[in-house]
Amino acid sequence: MSELPEDLLERAEDSISQLRAAVAEYKNVCYANSLGAESMVLTDLIWGTKLNIEIFSIDTGRLYPETYDLIERVQQRYGRALRVYYPDTVKLEHWVAENGINGFRDGLDQRRSCCGIRKVEPFRRAVSGRGAWVTGIRRSQSASRALVAPVEWDGEYGLHKVSPLLDWTKKDIWDYIRKKRLPYNSLHDIGFPSIGCASCTRAVQPGEEERSGRWWWERSDSRECGLHSRAKIPAFAAVHGPQE
Ligand code: SF4
Repeated sequence: MSELPEDLLERAEDSISQLRAAVAEYKNVCYANSLGAESMVLTDLIWGTKLNIEIFSIDTGRLYPETYDLIERVQQRYGRALRVYYPDTVKLEHWVAENGINGFRDGLDQRRSCCGIRKVEPFRRAVSGRGAWVTGIRRSQSASRALVAPVEWDGEYGLHKVSPLLDWTKKDIWDYIRKKRLPYNSLHDIGFPSIGCASCTRAVQPGEEERSGRWWWERSDSRECGLHSRAKIPAFAAVHGPQE
């Protein structure tokens, strides 16, 4: 960590403390690695400090080739393997037969059901039986993410959700990546701040909201895949009841 300036070092140490607290508090913590820039920081914080947190990714089958290259580079750097989860083949075959290979563009219901099969179901399997999952979301990424608390009870999946990078800025993320020479997705260099499936992600213009390149044909308030819905309550409130 000696290559980091003091303010960034403090941020990193604070995030590591949050991760350590999660490991101490909850059983079988995992990190859902989305392979974006924030994920490279979190992977380094977790594997660099040998925290007992399993890291996994979901291969929807529609990722950019650059993203598969990144998985390989990450594994080479740390000498460890990400666990990769895949969609249920039978369900996906039925969905494609019914909706068409690119049917997710035909409406919000189709898009959400595609995300449901390709992302949400494998995610549900990946977190099943665990006490907490870690995310790399930041408050400045979107209006809905600005409302997230560092630890929330995720009622949708039945475990806690820990977000140790909430207060990091985009600049913090990139300073950390560059100072530590971490691998990252080469699409970031050509205007992609947020990278998901190739069919549903595009580059954005300078000044546009970071997630505006995701499902750009939809209204901005629907641009989540189902893993970060806002029907959540802070963990404290879940245990102790609503506070004033
Ligand atoms: S991002 Fe697009 S292709 Fe990927 S799972 Fe969602 S709708 Fe399907």
